Amino acid sequence: MSKQKINKLLIGTNNKGKLREIKNLLPKNIKVYPTSAFNLSSPIENGKTFKENSLIKSKYFSKKTGLTCLADDSGLEIDFLNKNPGIYSARWGGRHGDFSKAIRRVYRQLNKKDKNWKNKKIKARFICALSISYLNKKIACALGKVEGYISNEPRGKNGFGYDPIFIPLKKKKTFGEIKPSEKYKMDHRYQAFKKIKKFL
Ligand code: IMP
Repeated sequence: MSKQKINKLLIGTNNKGKLREIKNLLPKNIKVYPTSAFNLSSPIENGKTFKENSLIKSKYFSKKTGLTCLADDSGLEIDFLNKNPGIYSARWGGRHGDFSKAIRRVYRQLNKKDKNWKNKKIKARFICALSISYLNKKIACALGKVEGYISNEPRGKNGFGYDPIFIPLKKKKTFGEIKPSEKYKMDHRYQAFKKIKKFL
């Protein structure tokens, strides 16, 4: 399977922000299918790592459709919060995936830990595990990271999720302020994609 070129690919995510980004990374000769084309809900993510959860998704969606599937599991690690929300990043948004809620929770936890946190550099990183599976078989799985820190307040309307509060290293703007085309070339998803694109 891995030596054969893939011309049809299911993107195993129900997150529109991720779908947009992943589509942008893929070679244009691959016909891409979203999960919405099959009306599929997401599996239970009970893995302990980004890689485990990514493989749960790519195998689940591939088995449901019979198509090779590329899935993403990603999140934000904040060192000062013991690497939370981490694999729970989506869950901090609650059942309806409300990211202003998740962002308020980050600020609430930082305030609880240290009232003076805004005068410190709060180190953080986005992590992404991309995996490709065909039915129950893993074809590839790779991890990508982008280091940075948490901004003192949310800024910018681009992107999705925690983008408005994350400032990548050596930049002043948050991912919410940076142009999407620039974010796509530097973020965790892109770093993981570089490692697995040879399998596509
Ligand atoms: P999951 O991989 O579906 O469990 O969800 C990961 C969650 O991490 C997303 O819902 C986002 O909140 C967050 N996340 C992952 N990648 C990004 C990103 O590139 N920008 C902002 N938030 C992200």
